Amino acid sequence: MTRERIQVGFGERLFSYGFGAYHPFNRVRISVFEAKFNELLSRHGDLIELVEPEECREEELTLFHTPEYVKFVKAACSPGSNVRYLDYGDTPAYPNCFRNACTVVGTTLKLLKSIAQGRVRRAFSPIGGLHHAMRNSAGGFCIFNDVGVAMEYAFRFLGYRSIAYVDIDAHHGDGVYYEFEEDPRVIFFDVHQDGRTLYPGTGFDYERGKGEAFGRKMNVPLPPGAGDREFLRSFERGIEFLKGFEFDLIVLQCGADGLAGDPLTDLRYSKEAHRFAARSLAELSEEKCRGRILALGGGGYDPQNVGDAWIEVVSALAGIE
Ligand SMILES: [Zn+2]
Repeated sequence: MTRERIQVGFGERLFSYGFGAYHPFNRVRISVFEAKFNELLSRHGDLIELVEPEECREEELTLFHTPEYVKFVKAACSPGSNVRYLDYGDTPAYPNCFRNACTVVGTTLKLLKSIAQGRVRRAFSPIGGLHHAMRNSAGGFCIFNDVGVAMEYAFRFLGYRSIAYVDIDAHHGDGVYYEFEEDPRVIFFDVHQDGRTLYPGTGFDYERGKGEAFGRKMNVPLPPGAGDREFLRSFERGIEFLKGFEFDLIVLQCGADGLAGDPLTDLRYSKEAHRFAARSLAELSEEKCRGRILALGGGGYDPQNVGDAWIEVVSALAGIE
């Protein structure tokens, strides 16, 4: 593999996005990744540039989210608010949750802009890919959907005509799928645990986009217990599907909750799934979009799995064997 200088969003302000020690989306989940990443950095500091996390502006949020929803989140995290959850009970409200969620979006946007300016071709943010948030609501630990905001930003301000979104998180990326279901500019490929057996209960193979976007989305549900063999077979189909389109950027949501032992899901991948996905997309990106990939962490609730899977992704993006 060719060596490649990449950017990685890294810092406590970004890692502060979470819901406390007793919630699955906590600070400890990324501790093994942090340690392994620092070790990788000590050996390959020439290839990895750290990017300071940054809050986005409200005008950026409303490129995707409704102003009413942004206002609701802001009020819910203000002192004196008695809102306990931003949704039906998965995503708690707490002081600072607005700013922390803005930092996730801002960091994703910063990396996107960096790619668009040609500073690097590839970047990773470990806290990002919050794919369950809808334009007007929170869901599944996701307050603001950084993917949605980044794609709207890219179409509006960067001149990108089309983006390939690839999601290997164990959960279906419903916030990206449904909010762009009729948008032909978003080429969508998502492999995940069957919605009949896991949150959010969507992402069936007959869901292929609507209207002008029909045929530009591909959902592949896998049964509980599916491992690397099933993943690789599905991912190869996904690559063939993506080859049929033109796009300016690949966004990879590389949730690590599909690895065996995750406390929230029933898939049984190993880190080889992430290695294979990131390497295949790096290759595809050379062919299709001048090597441009923005990778975002997504879910993953077993710290060792999160560390293992994301180190594979970072290494693949930077061309480290
Ligand atoms: Zn997930």
